Order: sequence, then structure tokens, then C-alpha cells
Amino acid sequence: MSTGLAWAASDPLVVRVGVFENPPIVSAPAGAQPEGIAIDMLRWVADREGWKLAFVPDAFDKQVERLERGEIDLLVGFAYTEARASQFKFSKQSLIGNWGMVFRHADARIESLPDLKGKRVALMRSSTHGQALVELAARFDAAFTPVYVDTYPQVMQAVAQRHVDAGAVNRVFAALHAHEPDVVVTAIVFNPVFVHYAAPKAADPAVLAALDHHLAQLKADQHSAYYDSLRRWLEATPPDRYARWLPWAVAGAAVVLGLALAIAAFLRRQVQRQTGELQRRAEMLHAEIRQREAAQQHLKQIAYFDSLTGLPNREGFSNTLAQMLTGLHENHERLALLFIDIDRLKNINDGLGHGAGDLLLKQIAERLQSVLRANDHLSRFGGDEFVVIVSDIEATSDAELVATRLLRSLGEPFHIGPTQIYSSASIGIALYPEDADSVDSLLKHADTAMYQAKELGGNRFLFYQAQQTTRVVERLTLDTRLRQALERDELLLHYQPIVELGSRRMVGFEALLRWDDPEHGLVMPGAFISSAEDTGLIVPIGEWVLEAGCAQLRAWQQQGKAEGMTLAINVSTRQFEGQRLVKSVEQALSRTGLAPAFLELEITENVMLIMNDEVRSSLDQLRGMGVRLSLDDFGTGYSSLSYLKQLPFHILKMDQSFVSKIPGSTGDTQIVRTILALAKGLELEVVAEGIETQAQYDFLREHGCEFGQGYLMSRPQPADALAGMLDAQRLGEKTG
Ligand code: C2E
Ligand code: MG
Ligand code: MG
Repeated sequence: MSTGLAWAASDPLVVRVGVFENPPIVSAPAGAQPEGIAIDMLRWVADREGWKLAFVPDAFDKQVERLERGEIDLLVGFAYTEARASQFKFSKQSLIGNWGMVFRHADARIESLPDLKGKRVALMRSSTHGQALVELAARFDAAFTPVYVDTYPQVMQAVAQRHVDAGAVNRVFAALHAHEPDVVVTAIVFNPVFVHYAAPKAADPAVLAALDHHLAQLKADQHSAYYDSLRRWLEATPPDRYARWLPWAVAGAAVVLGLALAIAAFLRRQVQRQTGELQRRAEMLHAEIRQREAAQQHLKQIAYFDSLTGLPNREGFSNTLAQMLTGLHENHERLALLFIDIDRLKNINDGLGHGAGDLLLKQIAERLQSVLRANDHLSRFGGDEFVVIVSDIEATSDAELVATRLLRSLGEPFHIGPTQIYSSASIGIALYPEDADSVDSLLKHADTAMYQAKELGGNRFLFYQAQQTTRVVERLTLDTRLRQALERDELLLHYQPIVELGSRRMVGFEALLRWDDPEHGLVMPGAFISSAEDTGLIVPIGEWVLEAGCAQLRAWQQQGKAEGMTLAINVSTRQFEGQRLVKSVEQALSRTGLAPAFLELEITENVMLIMNDEVRSSLDQLRGMGVRLSLDDFGTGYSSLSYLKQLPFHILKMDQSFVSKIPGSTGDTQIVRTILALAKGLELEVVAEGIETQAQYDFLREHGCEFGQGYLMSRPQPADALAGMLDAQRLGEKTG
């Protein structure tokens, strides 16, 4: 199967390939054909693409120079770095991930990064992993004393002989060689690098494109040549060779021994030598067998790690937890399972690309790890899910403390290239033995609690409660039912007045979505919006809301009921995708004939999270059209003040969580005053949400808040009821 590149049909393309010594990825033995995983894959692709391969063996640094000068077309087994990416072209697909791992001797108390502090750690001189570990430890206040040696085998030797407490080697080496009986692998994995194919900057992109095309397919199939090659090179350990001839050697030597014994005493000395040799070989055989077993054990372990972050994966996690649970049961101890889901990672992937999402995940993994204790276990389940096992729990507040620390660790912005990203997570907590006593049910319960935390808006943790389960079961059918709701016209809008606090006059209203479900009655948006956002159904729903709301206001205007009134519509950040929001707004306005000045779009603060050129330009276009923009739920999410200044918002909606605390303590009132002052400074109008008491109303009015909305003035109302309120207000004005 060819990718159909132009040259594939005519002359065979000659690809000059730089090879060097880096087994098992690539190896170029003198006088023999190059071999290794990278070569296997390249040959496989070359066969299908009709390429002729011309190998150029040389030292690594020479190959890099060749690549610079364009004297080779491909360099195999080249680790990707940002600096290199600006100099060369890389295949998009990586060949294999490699990362640093830390081993300790059996008695050293080292499990996670902070435990390295002050310890002696063997590193291979000039290895990038070694340098990375030194820097990582320094960043997390875990500086150690590096002890430099020349090779990875020397690192392991230093650990085995206890010259050092621990040593760092790379994962591929570890898979093949790190099986000393007295040496134990720790949970510390770091500095993941990915090995790719590289081409000169000016090269025809077709070669890399073909490699990418095939590699992607090969990697997707567990039974492909790719996995055959990995197994062949990562599992091929020397004992196989010994195993075949050693029994014969043992037998042969035994015969020699018997003969020697039979002949004469003068041969005794020689016999003794032979015996010694025989014993030595027998011991060697045993050692090899032990090592072989350890190697297999270790290979299994490698299968238990996640290649992006180097953390244990789901399998690794299950094993660890199962082991721990057995121990705990015997000692009557407790533990907590924290299921962490990164909020809105999908937005980041969609907005900035998966590369950025991956970088963010790596940084998140480091942050999470950095606040955990030595005996807590962090693993990644793939996607945006992490799980922490917190052992040694005495009170539930211990779990709470860890969850708080984890959430706080994500609070500072992340930097992905030039972009600043705000992140948060939803955490569900299940306790052993109170909530469950098996790996599966603990996970299920923690997961359920996580969903609940997410439904409440994310950036929070929740403990599992038995009655949550039913709700999540309902979730599964929610998507289907919601789709039907849209088709069957079961959605409707309620309207809540927005009031000018000084005069108590209604100046506009916010449209709030409701679902009249034939089974459950009136369903509030909190129960289905986040699910509709996950599935993307929010986009057509949002378009329906826009049009229905605009049509309603236009009708009231034509009936002379709503002169000067504005309509606020909530929009989800997902509606920005592909600049769709601008088109939907234009369409709703033109179909209903509503003038743009009467429409306000409420966008939650989380829009800052996905702020890219596309979103930015949508906001500018909307403002250009004359639509007003308001920042909803201000203070609960990710506002960056520097952004706030640049973005084209008119209105800031102060979240009800602040309003509910006033008049209250001085601290709380101070926050409200600060938000009001901030809005004034930025020349934004403020609408206070959730005003429920006269005291709140008075405080806000006295402190210069112009507009408000809340149950005190009116709950959200069906259209008819609101029309009645509009009439009453007009009547009051005429008579009053
Ligand atoms: P929101 O935009 O912040 O809307 C204000 C929410 O506060 C509404 O809840 C409203 O009923 C409630 N509320 C108003 N006054 C008070 C009060 O005095 N006390 C209390 N405790 N609550 C008050 P609702 O209608 O359940 O909507 C919840 C959220 O769902 C909205 O928050 C908005 O984010 C989202 N939403 C509603 N309709 C839509 C929609 O059409 N599209 C999108 N994307 N989201 C929507
Ligand atoms: Mg709103
Ligand atoms: Mg709000």
C-alpha cells in the first residue's frame, strides 16, 4: 500500500539514512547491516513506498552536522526537543518514548522526588536525564549529591554495592539490564523524551509524511510489525543464547570430570580446576536465569507506565492498590482514593492543539506530584484523568487536605510556549474501608463523586455519597434524551428581570434555559448544560436559545411592551468553535429583526481559558456588530486581570457567591468592594447576581453597584408572567 506520493510510481527514491550507535533503537555494527527498532520500521515503510535505503554510519554528532548540511535525508532515533525542532523537521509520530527512572538499593527510603533530598545519587556523566533530574530536584527543593560515573551499568553497580542511595538510568536500559536482585525501582520517573525520525529543514516533506502515515497505522494495531519489533528488541536478553548451549557445556564438563577422576591422581589439580570452572558456569547459568526472570518481571512493569507523563498507568495503579489493600486489611488501616479530572482540557486541546494539551498534562503531572507525600501514589489513567492513592489516613480531613493541596497546585497559570493557561480540576474522593473495599468499587465511587464535583462547576472536591450512584446512571441516557428534547421542542426559556438598583426599575432580563421533560418535569440547566457541553449538543441548543430569546424580545417590542429593554443570553464557550457564534448571532438577529444593541451575550470567565486568536476575533466582531458582551460568574473562575483589560467586555456579572456573603464579615464585604472598584477602574458596568435580601440590596446600592438580579426582585419567570411584569411596570410609570 503506497501513500500515492508522486515519485513512488516512477524512479525508486533513494533515501540517505544517517545511523549511529544507540541500541536498541538503532545500532550500526562495523561491517554489518544496521539494525534496531528504528531500522525495522524504516525498512518496513521503505518496502511499501518503494524507497531504496542508503545507510551512512557515523558518530552521533557527525550525523547531526550531516543533517544540518543536508548530506543525509533522514536521521533515525533522534530525540525531539524544541530547540532541535527549530533546526530540523521531525516526524509527527514518535518511534518510542524514553524517560529517566530512579532505582534505589533495597534499604534506602526513597519513593518519590522529595525523598531524594540530601541523598547520594549515581548519574551517568553527560546524560541528559541526569542533568534533568538535578534540575527537577532543585526545583522541588529536593537537591541531592550527584555521584558521576561513566556508564549506565556503573550506575546500577554503584546502587547494588551501596556506594550510593539511588541511581538514575533511562527506561530502555532499565528494561534490558536493570535487574540486580538488591536494586528496587522507585516511583520516580522524569524527563520523558521521544525519539523520532528527522529530516533537514529544506527536505521534501513527503518522506516524513509517508513515515508518519505508516507509523500511525502500525502503532494503532497491537499485532503490527511495530509491536513485533518492540518485543524483539526490548525482550531479547542474552540468556537465550546461554540457555541453549549451557546444558551441553555442563554435560560435557561432567564427562570430562568423570574421565579426569577415573584417570589418575596426578590429574587431580587439573580436575579441581575443571570443577571450579564447572561450578562457575553452573552459577552463571543460575544467575542468568534469575536475571531473566527479573527482566521479564521488569518488562511487565514497563507496561504499567504511561508514556506521556511517565507515571504509572491504570494497570500499574490497579496492581499497587490491590497490594496495598491486602496490607491494609491485615493492619486495619484506612486509605483514600482521589479521582482527579482536569476541567475543560478538551477546550485546550481544541483551541491550542493536542501538542499543547500534552505539554500541559506533563506540567500538571509534575505539579500534582510535587505536593504529594512520599507514600502517596499518583497515576494517570489517560486523557485528563489522574488518580492518587493517599495512604496512612487517620481522619477524613487528611484526604481533604491532600485534595486542597492538589487543587491549589493547579491554581498558578501554566505556560505553554507564549500562551498562559489557567487550569483546575474536579476531584472525587472514596474512602477505604468505609465506601468500598475493592479496587474496582473504590474507583467507581471516586469517579462518581468526581462527576458530581464537575457538575457543580468543577475546581472543587467532593466525597463519595452512596446516593450519588443513581444520578450518574441517569447521565448515561441524558445525552440521548436531550437530543430528543431539542427535536421535540421540549426546551423553553424563563426570564429573570435585571433591575437598576437606584430606581428599582427593570431595565432588561436574562433568558434562562429550562427543559420540560415529560418524565421528570421542569429540569434546571445545572442538570444538563455541562453534559451538553461535553457532547457538543450545546451548540445547536445555544442556537435555539439565541433565536427563541431574540424572537421573544422582538415580539414584546412590537407589542410596545419592552421599550429600551435588553435581553441577556448565556453562551457556552463551545459555541465559539469555528467562529460559529458570530454566524449564529447574525442569523438570529436577521431572522427576528432584533437590533443588535438590545442583545447582551453572557460568557463565563472560562472563556479566558480558551482565549486564542479565533475566540478573540469572534469577541471583536460581536462588539463590532453592536452586541454587548458581559462576563458571567465573575470571580469564580479564571479571570486574568491583564486579559480583562484587553477584552471587549461591557458588563461584569458579580457571582452570587460573593453577594450571598454580604453584609457579613469585613473580609467578605471587602472583596465585594474590591470587585466594584475594579469594575469602575476598567469602566465596566456591574450586575450583582443572586440578591436575596434587602440588606444585600442596600449594601450593593450604597457601594455604587448599579444593577442587580435576584430572587428578592423576582425569580426567573415564564414568558407570560414576565410580559405581565413588563405591563405592570409601564402602567406604574404612566400613572406614577
Ligand atoms: P447564570 O448565568 O449565572 O444564571 C444565574 C443563575 O442564578 C440562574 O440559575 C438563576 O435562576 C439563579 N438565580 C438568580 N437569582 C438568584 C438568587 O437570588 N438566588 C439564587 N440562589 N439563585 C439565583 P439557573 O437558571 O439554574 O441557571 C444556572 C446556570 O445555567 C446559569 O448561570 C448559566 O450559566 C447556565 N445557563 C442557563 N441558561 C443557559 C443557556 O441558555 N445557555 C448556556 N450555555 N447556559 C445557560
Ligand atoms: Mg448568566
Ligand atoms: Mg452568573
